[in-house]
Amino acid sequence: MLTDAQIDRYSRQIILPEVGGVGQERLLAAQMTLLAEADDLTPALNYLAGAGVGAIHLDCPGDAGRLDLLIAQMAQLNPEVRLGTSAAQAGHHATLLVLAASNRIIDAARQINENAAYARVIFARLGKPTLIAALPSRPPCLACASPALLEPVERGSFAAPVAMAAAAETIKMLLSVAPQPARLIEFIGYESRSSRLDSQWHPGCARCA
Ligand SMILES: [Zn+2]
Repeated sequence: MLTDAQIDRYSRQIILPEVGGVGQERLLAAQMTLLAEADDLTPALNYLAGAGVGAIHLDCPGDAGRLDLLIAQMAQLNPEVRLGTSAAQAGHHATLLVLAASNRIIDAARQINENAAYARVIFARLGKPTLIAALPSRPPCLACASPALLEPVERGSFAAPVAMAAAAETIKMLLSVAPQPARLIEFIGYESRSSRLDSQWHPGCARCA
């Protein structure tokens, strides 16, 4: 049951038919991992923490001090959300959001894909070709969803809005009870086109099998 304070905090979201009280409880109970460069975290985290996603593990290479500062800022935005960087939390969540704007994030995502470590993956390339893959289950794995996903990347000028769109896809996936089809969203500037990935996997792929 939501407390009065929670109903107050999330009221704008609870009134949405696709969320409601039950959906809000589901978000508060949700746990996920976010793999990204620290530079790309703020827009997505504002969205996820604001929506009340219960626990978010940050898998971020680089400056730990910067992450601590960001975690402190998010605690002010929403003290209910548990944010952490402890390695002990990694890999224990079913849902992974990747914001890829550097090749070290691409390399880490490739490794995660090899290990098939997460049941549900939302993967955003924040540079050309700018893509979001929403993969609620395998098949397809990341490599089969689109070979372009794991190509080398450089952060593009639309990185922040694409990261927010990927956060919105993540919320949708955390809210969904019925299985959703895998989708690929392509961005040309602010225009986007979404397609289903039903038969987009390689029968010989060990990760998809
Ligand atoms: Zn595959």
